[in-house]
Amino acid sequence: MKKDTETSEKIGLFGGTFNPVHLGHLRSAEEIREKFNLSKVIFIPAHIPPHKKTRITPADHRFEMVKLSILGNPFFEVSEIELKRQGSSYSFETIDYFNNLFENKAELFFIIGLDAFREIHTWKRYPHFFSACNFIIMSRPGLSDIASEKIIPHDAVKDFTFNDANQCYVHRSGYCVYFCKITLLEISSTVIRRRLKEGKSIKYLVPDSAEQYVREHKLYEDK
Ligand code: ATP
Ligand code: MG
Repeated sequence: MKKDTETSEKIGLFGGTFNPVHLGHLRSAEEIREKFNLSKVIFIPAHIPPHKKTRITPADHRFEMVKLSILGNPFFEVSEIELKRQGSSYSFETIDYFNNLFENKAELFFIIGLDAFREIHTWKRYPHFFSACNFIIMSRPGLSDIASEKIIPHDAVKDFTFNDANQCYVHRSGYCVYFCKITLLEISSTVIRRRLKEGKSIKYLVPDSAEQYVREHKLYEDK
């Protein structure tokens, strides 16, 4: 349940596989940070994502690429929390971890693309999320025309009311779900992996530092 505390900070949590991180991730996190006045955005690479079927590049490589890519942005951080945890990464554990870490003095906003949010009902302890933090759902190319009233999973709709003033869905816990249109960048890690496998350029799709890392470690060449 949302605590009625004086919250001084608004913090974004941005989970993902980041296999590899790309400019779509970085630009969208930056836009959300600015729009919601977040004091920081914490990138959280997943260890073994329960939903990913493809072979995943080792977590330490994915973590390093995020670390290098965010170096120039004082508002961005990367967390090892899911990498340190043994076994699968579950978002509810991550949200609980950060709620405890900040002792509810900061308000958490879980940042997620619409494609990923549409799968949320399959996540472990799914209904728990809406009582644990706010959500910011970002548009993604191809999915941008989804009507906002269809964003909340069907079985959870009864727990929400729409707040006109804040343009968000307020959960009975007090936390909100926002839908946010961002600049649509048609970039995905899948495309980057495919391009690397085909020996094609990934320049201007990922930060230079991440590209350099990929080349040095010969990542994604044989997948
Ligand atoms: P893959 O193709 O391997 O699924 P991806 O590009 O979707 O990779 P993820 O690590 O799966 O990257 O995404 C992490 C989060 O970032 C998800 O919530 C996803 O919706 C969001 N996201 C990824 N790419 C973009 C983009 N170009 N614009 C907005 N959000 C994005
Ligand atoms: Mg994805």
